[in-house]
Amino acid sequence: MSRKTRIVQKYGGTSVGSPERIRAVAARIKKLHDAGNEVAVVASAMSGQTNRLLALASEVSPTPTARELDSLLSTGEQVSTALLAMALHDLGVPALSLLGHQVQISTDSSHGKARILSIDVSRAEEAFAEGQVAVVAGFQGVDERRNITTLGRGGSDTTAVALAAALKADVCEILTDVSGVFTTDPRICDAAFKLDRISYDEMLELASLGAKVLQIRSVEFAKRYSVPVHVRSSLDESEGTWIVPEEKSMEEVLVSGVAFEKNEAKITLLGVPDTPGLAASIFVPMSEAGVVIDMIVQNVSAEGRTDMTFTVAKDDVASAEEIVRGIADKVGARGVAASPSVGKVSVVGLGMRNHAGVAARMFKLLADEGINIQMISTSEIKISVVIDAESVDRAVGVLHRGFIGVDANTSVGGSG
Ligand code: ADP
Ligand code: ASP
Ligand code: MG
Repeated sequence: MSRKTRIVQKYGGTSVGSPERIRAVAARIKKLHDAGNEVAVVASAMSGQTNRLLALASEVSPTPTARELDSLLSTGEQVSTALLAMALHDLGVPALSLLGHQVQISTDSSHGKARILSIDVSRAEEAFAEGQVAVVAGFQGVDERRNITTLGRGGSDTTAVALAAALKADVCEILTDVSGVFTTDPRICDAAFKLDRISYDEMLELASLGAKVLQIRSVEFAKRYSVPVHVRSSLDESEGTWIVPEEKSMEEVLVSGVAFEKNEAKITLLGVPDTPGLAASIFVPMSEAGVVIDMIVQNVSAEGRTDMTFTVAKDDVASAEEIVRGIADKVGARGVAASPSVGKVSVVGLGMRNHAGVAARMFKLLADEGINIQMISTSEIKISVVIDAESVDRAVGVLHRGFIGVDANTSVGGSG
């Protein structure tokens, strides 16, 4: 007997944002289930809920522990999965809601950014064998001491792809409030258009450079386990974007997408004696304090001194600055300068591998727009620049126009 088609679907916050939306999602799942598929559904918290819980925690305590915060945040997904299972029952669909510790999704103990180590799918397999839809809470897991953990913002994407890998699903569908992966965020650039296909590597870059349509770890899982991922609208049945292994023709496209990040900050340690161990003396304490460093540039030294500049997420700037000021004296630096509001804009495309001149063209486009570049970083398939945060939208527009152009059939599905 041939195996049934196995589908993992993930519904994001907006897609389960109200009782009406939850009932509509249940009706969509019913169709798949009635057609004889084995369906596991991963749900995010209802839109806004994770932020509301974070705000609630900060009203109670300015410094909640990461463990209790995870315990609190995980409740958002507990609510949405239970409601979705109820809505399915109402439509006569057998369904079982499962929390992270029930599935079971085992993670390490890094609260707030836990990594999935393994998934024991026996409970989900049992549900399938009994003809049930497994409704799995996104974003949460359990560590070896049975503490509840969460996977970082946007982590339900990762739950879904990891579950699809563990269940050897035929497809992982990410159903969201836009109709697929666009050339850039359609909410800030009218000219953005939906891509039919994109390679794992390009999607990895876009996700890591700010395109929040997929959490980066979900793309890492998809690539490692060759999970076909289909990002599409939760509001209609139109084809979205397939994330797939690289195809030869993809190298013909110079730039597939433009990504951006607005909430970054830049810190410079000025005039430090250029000696071995300098970088380690700055960045080891930073990593011990859990500060994630993004871009780093060290100037060519003059008269034995150099400047060291790096960027961090805006949320981390206060702790990063404190650490750097502490180090500045020890290493004999002349001073510390911080810019609290910078942004980063990146162009990504497999075609860059074989074409020189993309960087030059990017810098020219920005220069013609009067946008000053503060830092630059490149890899095989991307170029990123740090600019003033206020210029980010304009930079995205000009780079999209210059590299990708306008598509007349632009459409942004969803309600936002
Ligand atoms: P969900 O709640 O479904 O997980 P998210 O808000 O996390 O949805 O991600 C979808 C959002 O990602 C879209 O509403 C869009 O504004 C944003 N986004 C950023 N970059 C892109 C892109 N390149 N393509 C599509 N959406 C993008
Ligand atoms: N609810 C979590 C968040 O808001 C996880 C997710 O939606 O993917 O980040
Ligand atoms: Mg998301």
